[in-house]
Amino acid sequence: MTFRRRLLRLWVLLILVPSLLTLQAQDDEPPPGLTIHVVQRGETLFRIAQHYGLTVDELAQLNSLLDANSIQVGQRLLVPAQPTAIGETHTVQPGETLRSIAELYGVTVDDLARWNSITNVDSIYAGQVIVVTLVEFVEDANVPSPTPTDLPTSAPTAAPSTAVASAEDVGGEVVYSTVIHTVARGETLYRIAQQYGVTVNAIMRANQITNPDTIYVGQQLAIPGVGEPQLATTLPVPLTGLEILPLILTEGQTGRIRITASTPVTISGTFLDRFLNIADEEGGLRKTALVGIPVGTTAGIYPLNLSVTGTDGVPVDVAINVQVISGGYGRESIRLLSGREDLLDEATEDAEMAILARVMSDFTPERYFDAAMGLPAAAPMSSRFGNTRSYNGGAFERIHAGTDFAGGPGTPILAPAPGWVVLADDLNIRGTATVIDHGWGVYTGYWHQSARYVSVGDYVATGQVIGAIGSSGRVTGAHLHWELWVGGVPVDPMQWVSVNFS
Ligand SMILES: [Zn+2]
Repeated sequence: MTFRRRLLRLWVLLILVPSLLTLQAQDDEPPPGLTIHVVQRGETLFRIAQHYGLTVDELAQLNSLLDANSIQVGQRLLVPAQPTAIGETHTVQPGETLRSIAELYGVTVDDLARWNSITNVDSIYAGQVIVVTLVEFVEDANVPSPTPTDLPTSAPTAAPSTAVASAEDVGGEVVYSTVIHTVARGETLYRIAQQYGVTVNAIMRANQITNPDTIYVGQQLAIPGVGEPQLATTLPVPLTGLEILPLILTEGQTGRIRITASTPVTISGTFLDRFLNIADEEGGLRKTALVGIPVGTTAGIYPLNLSVTGTDGVPVDVAINVQVISGGYGRESIRLLSGREDLLDEATEDAEMAILARVMSDFTPERYFDAAMGLPAAAPMSSRFGNTRSYNGGAFERIHAGTDFAGGPGTPILAPAPGWVVLADDLNIRGTATVIDHGWGVYTGYWHQSARYVSVGDYVATGQVIGAIGSSGRVTGAHLHWELWVGGVPVDPMQWVSVNFS
């Protein structure tokens, strides 16, 4: 290709790219990360740019607009898919509705729906971050001031010199503050942002972070726009609280649903097509259900359905939308010690899984743990939970259901929490195995041991030596495989090292 032709091609590209963007704005599938905003009567480019956290220039450039004043009602504009509207935000708590939130902030349901592009008011979910006020910028002389028609019909009027809503702006009742998040091991800025429903950029701006990979364990991050919970729940009497920990659940992890009441209640419920095992405390005033989110659960919004019966004996249904996000698990290839290939036999696997499922799916109404768990061995972690595995070059079809610790043979294995030994056996795949029942449907398992120091029926205390690391069963070498089940579902045990689910 001659230089001239190459230059020509470059020019064609330069001309084509903006027009491609314009073309894409016409059909229904915007490019990844972008969505379409249809210009409404009274809107200006300034107003739309502000809503999506862009400057007028950025928005004009994104849409190849030559004249910022020429937009028309009904025109379709490409905008970032996650609106980062400027204004105070509210994280939806379990039991809140768009109506109750609107009342809390003194705005209308229509305002909230419009500011957050919500088309179905019943679609909001616990953990969703929604904009509850809009704030005007008037100091920037480079952009035209919004005309009165720009103002949302019932938006509170902000003080002209401030860029952030103060308590007075929304009726004097709301105390606005920023949540401080302490970075835990294994967390990324992306994951933290997802957890709070804010953008990575918003956290980076608020904490003056220039490189998102530089966060460290123990770092305290200000999460902008996330206030202390302002509850606007519509829970039926006699319920006084409904808490989900964490507020946004993750595939392969544990969640805790806790309900409090002013008079004793009985509760039944379902989540992810499973019946909840509900523990009872304080004479029926506090109910707790631990849920394991199976690996493979598709990210999305799922209903938590509860049936609550108080002293009047009349059951009341409560439905909460709960968000489940992806666990982001990876893949790994495993090569077994030679001579142990027959342990990949499916019948052997099924038979052993049946033994475990029988032991680890029971629900013990007592709880023996009262803190986050300790680590089961003083050894480095060699494989995380949740990866899809291929053995000896086979298909990626087995999920790694625990966390591996690469300790040398004979390294002590410690009970990470109190409980009763319910299995002490020699299995084909899992080798010398122990299972501890910690109550409330929580079990931990210890596979591939070289020695076991406990028997079925023993009660173990936190830190007690229960066995030694070995290489029995289906292994590539000596290590401890640590497994944790909740409600019959294997979940990531490492979450229990940082979170106290009691
Ligand atoms: Zn393992």
